[in-house]
Amino acid sequence: MIVRKSKKEVAKIAAAGRVLAGCLEMLADAVAPGVTTKALDDRAEEYIRSHGGVPTFLGYRGFPASICASPNDMVVHGIPGKYTIVEGDVVSLDVGVTLDGYVADSALTVAVGDVDDRTEHLLEATRASLEAAIEQCRVGSRLGDVSHAVQAVVEAAGFSVVRSLVGHGVGKTMHEDPQIPNYGEPGRGPVLEEGMVFAIEPMVNVGGFDVYIAADGWAIFTVDGSLSAHFEHTVAIATTGPQVLTRRTNENVAARRGVM
Ligand code: MG
Ligand code: MG
Repeated sequence: MIVRKSKKEVAKIAAAGRVLAGCLEMLADAVAPGVTTKALDDRAEEYIRSHGGVPTFLGYRGFPASICASPNDMVVHGIPGKYTIVEGDVVSLDVGVTLDGYVADSALTVAVGDVDDRTEHLLEATRASLEAAIEQCRVGSRLGDVSHAVQAVVEAAGFSVVRSLVGHGVGKTMHEDPQIPNYGEPGRGPVLEEGMVFAIEPMVNVGGFDVYIAADGWAIFTVDGSLSAHFEHTVAIATTGPQVLTRRTNENVAARRGVM
């Protein structure tokens, strides 16, 4: 069942989203050669708690950290640790913030220094696919329209969407109905209604879409070793159009829509 949120509840998710957006901006600036993913995790936890929030991921099904940090061919769910970032890496950072009982969920991927054109294109295509999906988050659209929007942009760019991991509803808990695949048929699935809040999160590989879970039981890698990118926003369905509750102040959305 897809729980619809009141305007008051959406405002609370938005408040969590503002802390999260600030945290991700801080983290994106902190990513640099020589920095460990553990150091990023420590900074994120400090940021979230100093803004009155709680890191949603910490303790979730036993997850031992406040953020997921997933470099290069790691798709998502990386446990921060001693991995030291080097020039040319792409690092995906996923953060959840709980504030006043409501959750926001957002992720981005950062290129460290100079990366090749294909890698740059991967990041742009993944961002663009998220924006295309957000555009479909309107009263009366169907969930399949959202899923299809991601797939269409990604595959037109020559990349593949991970099939086995999905976006999700979000609200009082991090993972609510519905599951939101990053591929699908337009015109299918539940009709979107005011008050639904979705975490939309394309996970995109340069190579094939197959992934596997590492021995730690968390980290997900591409089977073919190709690079992967991940962008995520928490989005509310409203009569006035899509409301992105985790938008960062430095996102150049207009430029991005023109990219693909
Ligand atoms: Mg997330
Ligand atoms: Mg999520």
